[in-house]
Amino acid sequence: MREHVIAVIPGDGIGPEVIASGLEVLQGLAQKVGGFHLNIEKFPWGSDYYKKHGAMMPKDGLDRLRDFNAIYFGAVGGPDVPDDITLWGLRLAICQGFDQYVNLRPTRILQGLSSPLRDCKRGDLDWVIVRENSEGEYAGQGGRAHRGFPEEVGTETAIFTRRGVTRIMRFAFKLAQERPRKLLTVVTKSNAQRHGMVMWDEIATEVAKEFPDVTWDKMLVDAMTTRMVGKPSSLDTIVATNLHADILSDLAAALAGSLGIAPTANLDPEMRFPSMFEPIHGAAFDITGKGIANPVGASWTGALMLEHLGEKDAAHQLMQAVERVTASGIHTPDLGGIATTREVTAAVCDAIHSSKV
Ligand code: NAD
Ligand code: MN
Repeated sequence: MREHVIAVIPGDGIGPEVIASGLEVLQGLAQKVGGFHLNIEKFPWGSDYYKKHGAMMPKDGLDRLRDFNAIYFGAVGGPDVPDDITLWGLRLAICQGFDQYVNLRPTRILQGLSSPLRDCKRGDLDWVIVRENSEGEYAGQGGRAHRGFPEEVGTETAIFTRRGVTRIMRFAFKLAQERPRKLLTVVTKSNAQRHGMVMWDEIATEVAKEFPDVTWDKMLVDAMTTRMVGKPSSLDTIVATNLHADILSDLAAALAGSLGIAPTANLDPEMRFPSMFEPIHGAAFDITGKGIANPVGASWTGALMLEHLGEKDAAHQLMQAVERVTASGIHTPDLGGIATTREVTAAVCDAIHSSKV
């Protein structure tokens, strides 16, 4: 029996609701598929922890996570705690502390769902966005001076390193090469941002030589939004900076139906540290506690985690079960339906249970 030891951080808002759903689905799946076992340990870190202890996680938080095979994460954010504290105190502390330099965001239109784009059919939108996850605009470089005075300044400096750009570019080209269309779009803003972004373009050209069978093109990020909306089928694998891909991937999720279905993986491809898996949505205060959060993002996230752990067959079965449920019309309100989190969870568990192995 293969054992995978998973650290679970449900976090804030709807995080605990969707993670509870995801765990129920994952445990049911492990029983059904057999051959592996998930050993779960939960960590109550987040905004409530911050209000009690003055920090989002304990000082030795990273050390306590270090030996796990993966981290399954809900969301952070509290209406009464500043967003930069919740984000930097937990999620970014883990991503950067464990050098999870790839943020992978697959997006496609699941069975039974439709895009808000009038003419976009299921097969027209099947993308993987590769987000640089360790530097760029979220490098944390900058500062404030002369606080409160008219002279006050705030700087927010983006950092691009040759090493950082090269490794994300290699990852993206390799991923594009593994996908059937072997098609990569490199996103920048190298007209207006003429230093780091121009280096990004140059490194793309260099790395492309290692992957002669991959077709690639360049897009400026503003034009990219119109291409995603206007010609979705012209895209396949996409690589962009930390900030640009953050924004593009929310757009991608909305174009595929809802923010509530989209998953993401924060990967350390070298496996020096545990990787972290999370739905891309946040704490969603407006629906917290109502029992209507869409748990599909958390389930799809679970499938990404299983793939990373080498359980490819189980990951495939999980997505088949999820798509049987979305196809059957059991949808939460964000997808225009009336189902609750519980009902969708139960339906996915049933679909797993009744599937032929
Ligand atoms: P959000 O993702 O929490 O919510 C945006 C909208 O999408 C809301 O209307 C919400 O109800 C809806 N939504 C999100 N997930 C859903 C789901 N599973 N099912 C149904 N509807 C869903 O983004 P926001 O409102 O900008 O941020 C709220 C808080 O979450 C902030 O504190 C923010 O900092 C934090 N946040 C955290 C993360 C993270 O933990 N990775 C990501 C984004 C935002
Ligand atoms: Mn985001």
